[in-house]
Amino acid sequence: MKVHEYQAKKVLSGYGVPVPKGMVASTPPEAAAAAKELGGKVVVKAQVHAGGRGKAGGVKVVSSPGEAESFAASILGKNLVTIQTGPEGVPVRKVLVEQASQIERELYLAMLVDGGTKGIVIMASEAGGMEIEEVAARTPEKILRVKIDPALGLQPFQARKVAYFLNLKDDQVRAATKLVSSVYQTFVENDASLVEINPLVVTKDGSVLAVDAKLNIEDDALFRHPALKELHDPEQEEAIEVRARQAGLSYVQLDGNVGCMVNGAGLAMATMDVTVAAGARPANFLDVGGGADEAKVAEATRILLQSPGVDAILVNIFGGILRCDVVARGLMMGAESAGRNLLPMVVRMLGTNAEEGRKLLEGSSLDVTLVNNLAEAAAAVKKIV
Ligand code: GDP
Ligand code: MN
Repeated sequence: MKVHEYQAKKVLSGYGVPVPKGMVASTPPEAAAAAKELGGKVVVKAQVHAGGRGKAGGVKVVSSPGEAESFAASILGKNLVTIQTGPEGVPVRKVLVEQASQIERELYLAMLVDGGTKGIVIMASEAGGMEIEEVAARTPEKILRVKIDPALGLQPFQARKVAYFLNLKDDQVRAATKLVSSVYQTFVENDASLVEINPLVVTKDGSVLAVDAKLNIEDDALFRHPALKELHDPEQEEAIEVRARQAGLSYVQLDGNVGCMVNGAGLAMATMDVTVAAGARPANFLDVGGGADEAKVAEATRILLQSPGVDAILVNIFGGILRCDVVARGLMMGAESAGRNLLPMVVRMLGTNAEEGRKLLEGSSLDVTLVNNLAEAAAAVKKIV
């Protein structure tokens, strides 16, 4: 789960991470009042669950309350489209007004759970700021990675290593070492999956400050953090993902045109690979799960049929506890109630009641191609798209 920058900063500052003084505003006059209270020269920042705001016109340094008000008026209530949002963007309901920092250097600091090393990894770079993706792609040697042993936790020498890599001097080393350990404590105690501070700033007067902050909390741990769970902002998510989660489906939106419906995460991954191998692109990852019933399969079918950009549907079911006839009935039910012209469907069914499921689909009004294995599924998808 993502939270807004102002919320992330509040959590981080509770652990002693220095952040600029700031206030949240929901209306232009509130932004003006905040700017006045903070001394006039402020930065006004759109609060959305996406990075890339700077380049998209969602962040502006201004020098008077009047300017803060007019910039806030120009973004509040509108959608902000950044490189990290969909083409429609996400709504800006609040702005963060902060004392503008006198920036000397923009550094990068992040911590994330790394599946490869099965632990938390710290990433740091002197080349922070809005071009960090470029740096990672072209000059990865400019990024330090420090792996933390989960049993030992962050060691003081590791925090110092980060500070020296960032080319910090004297007092700054001490400040940054403390900051790294505060970020680590925030990460662990809140079950984060990502903390990213970009930029971590060295100001003209030599202090070290988190000017931007991202905090993602592991969904499966949210039950342990009721206060964080409260921060959930469904307006910032793709409507279809919210709908899928409400139905108990594991769903991730992608940008292809083949809607996939599968039971089991591993099979879903394999199905997406098959789709790509067939020269097509999956529109989504969708795992209906082992315990799905007809209603759940029907909702999954409707979601696929109603997703813009989906041209064909690939269903790959290995019947176990989830019976193939249940899936067939769910597909028929969903298609009937979706209110959209039927799309060509390629269906592979194996396992419990597969014969019955196939018969139901053959006798239905669906535009369905039944196949026996993944190779046939790939060929059928290729033919359609
Ligand atoms: P992002 O583009 O969504 O990551 O938003 P950031 O909060 O990182 O802001 C983008 C850029 O705006 C930063 O990299 C800075 O260069 C600039 N910026 C943000 N806050 C300030 C500030 O207080 N003072 C100055 N001078 N620049 C700022
Ligand atoms: Mn940033």
